[in-house]
Amino acid sequence: QPITTDMEALTREVRKFATDKKVEIEMLKVREKYRREFLGNVSHELKTPLFTVQGYLSTLLDGAMEDKTIRKKYLKRAEKGVERLIYIVEDLDMITKLESGDLNLEISEFDIVELIQNVFDLLEMKADKKKITLAFENYHIQPIFVKGDQDKLQQLVENLIVNSIKYGKEGGTTEVSIINLTKRKVLVRITDNGEGIDQQNLPRIFERFYRVDKSGARSEGGSGLGLAIVKHIIEAHKEKIYVESEFGIGSEFSFTLHKAKLNLNTSGAV
Ligand code: ADP
Repeated sequence: QPITTDMEALTREVRKFATDKKVEIEMLKVREKYRREFLGNVSHELKTPLFTVQGYLSTLLDGAMEDKTIRKKYLKRAEKGVERLIYIVEDLDMITKLESGDLNLEISEFDIVELIQNVFDLLEMKADKKKITLAFENYHIQPIFVKGDQDKLQQLVENLIVNSIKYGKEGGTTEVSIINLTKRKVLVRITDNGEGIDQQNLPRIFERFYRVDKSGARSEGGSGLGLAIVKHIIEAHKEKIYVESEFGIGSEFSFTLHKAKLNLNTSGAV
């Protein structure tokens, strides 16, 4: 039985059985349970890379240091462990800020096509390692100006594309398309032909620390926080995110954005 880390789900649970008078006390209990689960998850996530680093360092001190090749190999692995710790702490920092409402959005108008192209460039090496192609569905895509917090939206796109690579298959493709929804809104869609997510797990993937395949996901790295961060960024923008996926076939994540005024009278999206 997986533990629930989703505050909204817990709140719904309380509302089901509690009378009005009881709600307050039950909410306190839920918050306490939630806090305990969160801390439990955090320490669990930190333990794995910490033990890895400790393991390599102890082996080095126990004599492995003498051999130059082994020394280099083990130090590299220890460094990787530290890198993972940094990613996890950065993600935790982000999620804490997002959940406490501490995070102010810095709204500007920018070209979403350029932002996605930047993310493609940033992740090109990672994709190359699995021979995955990152591409726009429409090759001749025009600039499309949208309104939002550029840094946060870049992180969102990065998280989704990183996942499409991590859970993508060798030689696969990640395709992005931008669709005109209404005069004011566009839909950004990121499609992969990777391992997909079965219907049972699909409703839970946006919960923090939730992973479909615990062992598999772990070997790919990540904190289990990527999609929780994505969801919070979308909610902070008052936009919507959707996911469709079929196990063994692939996944499609799409989210809405408001077009910038600048853009309203051009044909813009494809
Ligand atoms: P993680 O750090 O484990 O990648 P995320 O919050 O980003 O954490 O994703 C949660 C889980 O959702 C992943 O562990 C994976 O099982 C599943 N998932 C996310 N994106 C995809 C995708 N594009 N294809 C298949 N599974 C995915």
